[in-house]
Amino acid sequence: MASVPSSSVDPVAGLIDGRAIAGEITARVGAETRRLKDAHGLVPGLAVVLVGYDPASQIYVGSKGRKAEELGFHSVQHTLPADTPESDVLAVVESLNLDPAVNGILVQLPLPDHVDTAKVIEAVRPDKDVDGFHPINVGRLVTGSGAAMVPCTPAGCMVLIRRAVGASLSGLDAIVVGRSNIVGKPMAHLLVRESCTVTVAHSRTRDLASAVRRADILVAAVGRPEMVRGDWIKPGATVIDVGMNRIPAPERGEGKTRLVGDVAFAEARRVAGAITPVPGGVGPMTIAMLMANTLVAACRQHGLPVPDVTG
Ligand code: NAP
Repeated sequence: MASVPSSSVDPVAGLIDGRAIAGEITARVGAETRRLKDAHGLVPGLAVVLVGYDPASQIYVGSKGRKAEELGFHSVQHTLPADTPESDVLAVVESLNLDPAVNGILVQLPLPDHVDTAKVIEAVRPDKDVDGFHPINVGRLVTGSGAAMVPCTPAGCMVLIRRAVGASLSGLDAIVVGRSNIVGKPMAHLLVRESCTVTVAHSRTRDLASAVRRADILVAAVGRPEMVRGDWIKPGATVIDVGMNRIPAPERGEGKTRLVGDVAFAEARRVAGAITPVPGGVGPMTIAMLMANTLVAACRQHGLPVPDVTG
């Protein structure tokens, strides 16, 4: 891991360039993939399962598949109609569990209401669970035992935090706003693992602004446009904005929209020591970490050393 702030964190503006850092990581994944193929004849395989035709999910799945192909992975996509019975979704997952060419399986969420999400997540073989959502991986992350697959978005946030703060986060005060299973909770555990003192805030938290003001590291994963204001932020803090919210942008023309985070960026940038933009911060890191997790899964499944592609 980097022990000094990387060149991808602009020292004057304090902008954490997630796109550039994600580019570095995917380049390393690509190089390791070529090395694995040359040395061991091994090609990492990623399968993505999409149920239904949600436009946002189709975009995410498309970009994951394209990136996997670009890196030389074996890439498979199963797109199932929205009314696919749960048993058929489970059967597809089981066929991928048994396929030796597939090292990583990702089931795009959300699933349609008639499909039990927990059941599908638990059907994925834990060592192929590149999303890190299986209870075995969650348990390993929390207890620190065994080789966990770490969820991609929080894993990407950790890389950004280390690039901004340095190798040691020990003793720093961190706050995670949001307690979802996919972002908030695993993020909090990763920060605890790095010996931060962690507050997990949510919709019932009293006086959120005061809690945020104490934090050296803020991770906002709420889904509320620009909720965290500049005057909530401790001067010099590292701010990681996971939020992706589409809001109307009439200034761009009728019916146009733009993407904003959970943090009021222009205000926060004046106070923070380092901050991720939206877009171009956490988003690209999520895909990069999915590729890294697939590489890790392939190495582990073949008993090969796991390369560090995030340092
Ligand atoms: P989620 O499951 O809806 O969870 C939102 C969390 O925010 C909940 O824990 C909720 O508290 C909390 N919250 C809601 N209103 C609040 C308030 N007024 N004050 C404090 N906390 C509040 O969302 P998610 O899946 O974690 O995603 C969060 C955001 O990150 C979304 O904008 C999503 O699009 C984005 N995201 C981005 C990426 C990426 O790759 N960039 C990946 C995943 C998610 P309760 O638990 O009390 O309800």
